[in-house]
Amino acid sequence: METVVLVIGANGQLGSVLVKALQDKFGINNVIASDLRYRDGFKGQFEIIDATDFERIQEVVETHKVTQIYHLAAILSAKGEEHPLQTWDINMKTLFNVLEVSRLNNIEKVFFPSSIAVFGDGAVKYETPNTAYLDPATVYGISKATGENWAQYYFLRYGLDVRSLRYPGVIGYQSLPGGGTTDYAVDIFHKAVLGEPFQCFLNEDATLPMIMMEDAIRATIELMDAPKEAIKTRTSYNLAGTSFSPAEIANEITKIYPDFKIEYAPDFRQQIADKWPNSIDDTAAREEWGWQPEFNLEAMTKTMIKELKAYYNLIPA
Ligand code: NAD
Repeated sequence: METVVLVIGANGQLGSVLVKALQDKFGINNVIASDLRYRDGFKGQFEIIDATDFERIQEVVETHKVTQIYHLAAILSAKGEEHPLQTWDINMKTLFNVLEVSRLNNIEKVFFPSSIAVFGDGAVKYETPNTAYLDPATVYGISKATGENWAQYYFLRYGLDVRSLRYPGVIGYQSLPGGGTTDYAVDIFHKAVLGEPFQCFLNEDATLPMIMMEDAIRATIELMDAPKEAIKTRTSYNLAGTSFSPAEIANEITKIYPDFKIEYAPDFRQQIADKWPNSIDDTAAREEWGWQPEFNLEAMTKTMIKELKAYYNLIPA
């Protein structure tokens, strides 16, 4: 059977990059990108799907004979706090629809991203283990922790092959972030390259787990390629890239832009960050399907600055 992939929430920070990687892997006609709105200039197959609408997902799955679903649509951590009940409704309804459509249509594999936001005060902050107690403090984190358990339920009860990663903050030059607590670590590079000062919404010492976009996409594809028997963790895998604070990233940037200026004006997002791990233990991912990150802070900084300079069409410093 030919693989046909449906990506839900394909216009977002991760989706826009993941779709390209999946097109390279499976062929441009075998990837159906979908989101609430059409994306201008998009190359490939696109369907408008509001994932709260079960019938619409079902229709697209039938029409395109979809065999795998990547469900990326969600309201993220910081944005989700503006309307907690609506965030819960959207995050859970879309997940239930994807799980049910997948079960009813014998979808071969489903990808559901979770997040480091599932952790709260009940988990140790350094090298947080995969099996740490989950007491998330945001509605987003609650929806992801609950979603992980439903993913496992569908696997245990119906044999649906759902796979999941707890992404750290994703840093990429290809797209803009969509309202999370780690968004500052993308914005800071845009300001640095444009020669502007940066106002940070977190404290200088707010160390959080992060990952370069290239690593996050490769992790997703490697997880989905792994043999079914290798996937022993059916809630979600901790995934580590590198961890750093705003002061550390600013310090790395000043090695390239010595005049770069940062000031700190922490807002409500600092309270969210306070509950999250400083670093993540991803032994299960490493042992069960061979995960290895490639980007540390230095490599991330060099790549972000090089690519954003090209994007803004700036001559080399
Ligand atoms: P994003 O906010 O950039 O994109 C989400 C996309 O989902 C948007 O294009 C939005 O239009 C779409 N969407 C929202 N509601 C929808 C609906 N009802 N139906 C269809 N589409 C809908 O998010 P992202 O950063 O690309 O994240 C993708 C996934 O990865 C999310 O589930 C997120 O929780 C998870 N994640 C992301 C990060 C990160 O740092 N970016 C970290 C951890 C987990």
